[in-house]
Amino acid sequence: MPELPEVETIARGLARNVTGDVIESVWLGSKPEPLKSTPAEIVRTLEHARISGVRRVGKHIVVDLSRKSRVASRQKNQAQWIVHLGMTGRLLVAKPEHELPKHTHAVVRLRSGRELRFVDPRRFGRLAVAQQSFHAPGAEPLDLGAELFGGLFRKRKTPIKSALLNQKLLSGVGNIYADESLFRAGIRPRRRAASLTRAELQRLYGALQEVLNEAIAAGGSSVSDYVDSNGDAGFFQFQHRVYGREGEPCQVCGTPIKRIVIAGRSAHYCPKCQR
Ligand SMILES: [Zn+2]
Repeated sequence: MPELPEVETIARGLARNVTGDVIESVWLGSKPEPLKSTPAEIVRTLEHARISGVRRVGKHIVVDLSRKSRVASRQKNQAQWIVHLGMTGRLLVAKPEHELPKHTHAVVRLRSGRELRFVDPRRFGRLAVAQQSFHAPGAEPLDLGAELFGGLFRKRKTPIKSALLNQKLLSGVGNIYADESLFRAGIRPRRRAASLTRAELQRLYGALQEVLNEAIAAGGSSVSDYVDSNGDAGFFQFQHRVYGREGEPCQVCGTPIKRIVIAGRSAHYCPKCQR
């Protein structure tokens, strides 16, 4: 499942590629699951709108749209196209002559002659439109200060790993980056969030910032079938120190990495380096 760095990579690629382009027409597939707004609403909002920017909000890709208001008004009509990639969703820039992949649920045709295609075999991804500014439920990990970060976990009785994954607290952190930042901070995933000392929370904050920024610089982690908007893979999977490395020696101390299950999600850690 794409996490914050992957979605950030896709959003940055799209921002470079399609900002300023105009949506000419929209085709939507017949599967109802991917559409969170009604097809009519999506088509009405997207068609003839200008893409004024693309950015990441939590794990969502937000395409900012503007159009000249039909009514005589100085105000520009603002709307947003919001894409959540779910497990296997991809948002690709393609030329119309490229064969349409199986499981394509939406094709957005641009004035430049290119297309934005939403492809999602497992159909957990979602397309929606909003007329108001879209906000993710949790705090944005890269904009948050260390104090506010610590405050999120102070009274939580859940394991710190689960708290990091809780999208109502933090937006965009998933299994990979939770495991990697807990390793770098030397904290066991099963520790109760409320039991973390101030110093540990500071370390975790620093580790999470570091891991997310390094992963963004590497274009994200290509596990399963993640690719960016140009169809290119990311490289951060080669820098994973614990995630997906069960049984391999810890890169710091040589102890085999352990994998456990916490609240139905796997967690990877070094029993010696993490306390
Ligand atoms: Zn170790």
